[in-house]
Amino acid sequence: MTDRIARLGVRYGFARRFIAGEALEEALRAITPLSRAGQPIILNHLGENVATPEEARRARDSYVQILRSLREAGVTGNIAVKLTQLGLDLNPQLCLSLTHDIAAAAAAMRNSIEIDMEGSAYTEATLRILEEVQKEHGNAGVAVQAYLFRSRADLQRLAPLKPKIRLVKGAYREPASIAFQKKSEVDANYRKLLDQMLDQLLLPNGEGLRVAIATHDPALVDYARGRIQGIRLAADQYEFQMLLGIRRDLQEEIVSQGHPFRVYVPFGEAWVPYFMRRLSERPANLSFVLRSLLAESKKTNSK
Ligand SMILES: Cc1cc2nc3c(=O)[nH]c(=O)nc-3n(C[C@H](O)[C@H](O)[C@H](O)COP(=O)(O)OP(=O)(O)OC[C@H]3O[C@@H](n4cnc5c(N)ncnc54)[C@H](O)[C@@H]3O)c2cc1C
Repeated sequence: MTDRIARLGVRYGFARRFIAGEALEEALRAITPLSRAGQPIILNHLGENVATPEEARRARDSYVQILRSLREAGVTGNIAVKLTQLGLDLNPQLCLSLTHDIAAAAAAMRNSIEIDMEGSAYTEATLRILEEVQKEHGNAGVAVQAYLFRSRADLQRLAPLKPKIRLVKGAYREPASIAFQKKSEVDANYRKLLDQMLDQLLLPNGEGLRVAIATHDPALVDYARGRIQGIRLAADQYEFQMLLGIRRDLQEEIVSQGHPFRVYVPFGEAWVPYFMRRLSERPANLSFVLRSLLAESKKTNSK
């Protein structure tokens, strides 16, 4: 069923709204207009939960190549990696070493890496690897999920190392024992965590901290804009981030207001899990694809 929905997504051109193609060249072509407009991007080579160390090493090689290609193409942008794509399920030591390789390559090119946060089974391991990599190279960031109860403590724990923090609501299904379930609760916690980050930024030792406000929720974007203005946050201390193809109107508005902004651009052959997460975030997306699926099966049955 998942495959069928995904194939329909492609057939109706719907997946292309969220994914910048399957090959790096396609992704680079897709980001050219953004790049010409001077807008920085985050490039993600889609993939997760690899099955062999060789696949994990190939993912490392691909990220190093992406960093080189960005530099050669003159694109202002960094990369986002998922640690299960670098073998976190198979061998955390291997994953750490591959993440070091990518961060070292990025540092040599004066670039940075952002580590996506996956399901809660990986939260602790992801933070440990982020801590090691940040200590060594100083150019790593990580996503922190507002739906998790633990995130308040995680922000406190990470602050001394000053990684860039990308604040997101959270995209995985998590149990009520560890995560807020209602949108209103997740949104309220997002505000609290953003306030916590902004308080940390204003402390005398807050220099070097950076927060990325990664949401398409207009109410949260408004809240963040109000707070940023209120405390006169400097442009090198924050940025807004949004995903390719989502709320392009709000993206343009933020850019036109002069806020620092980065768009997250995923590409690659392994796009089904990412696409399915985007579908399930918004009932309208899913109902569009399901209506197409129904129409297709009616046609098939009448043949
Ligand atoms: C740059 C970036 C990086 C991210 N990295 C991670 C990560 O590492 N780990 C993680 O768990 N999650 C990550 N996410 C996803 C995040 O956790 C949410 O699942 C996702 O952003 C939807 O929540 P929202 O904040 O946009 O708010 P919502 O309340 O879900 O949405 C607000 C509004 O945005 C629009 N919208 C939201 N999603 C969609 C969609 N799929 N299709 C069409 N319109 C939509 C709708 O207009 C909706 O009303 C990331 C998100 C962004 C923007």
